[in-house]
Amino acid sequence: MDEYLKLDCFNCRVRCCLEQRVILSERDIDLLIEAGYKLEYFAVKKGRYYYLREYGGRCIFYDVDTGLCRIYKYRPLVCRLYPLVYQDGNVILDVENCPEASKIDEEMMWNAVPDLIELVYRLKMGYRKYRV
Ligand code: SF4
Repeated sequence: MDEYLKLDCFNCRVRCCLEQRVILSERDIDLLIEAGYKLEYFAVKKGRYYYLREYGGRCIFYDVDTGLCRIYKYRPLVCRLYPLVYQDGNVILDVENCPEASKIDEEMMWNAVPDLIELVYRLKMGYRKYRV
């Protein structure tokens, strides 16, 4: 899994990491904990789901100085799939916020399908280890 959406993300100062709600699957949480982060530091539970914590309107892992993701290697599935966004059972292309979204072609879309299925499946499974 990775880099099938070959986009030039470094030109826009990653608007996708600002004021977005990043939903986390249990697998995303596992990876970040394995990377040495504490659940309370990076996640907040709202309703049924955990989300990445925000600080000052940005994702907690967004580095203001470099404009880059501090956990790029471990970033959650939702971040890997962006600008494809899973919302209320639908997949949309976030053309409003992502200047690269128009470059997504049919092949890229098809390549993203396994990760989209994984995301839907994992969210449906919920959190067995991180119940509160
Ligand atoms: S985890 Fe990284 S890629 Fe995902 S929203 Fe946060 S800073 Fe952006």
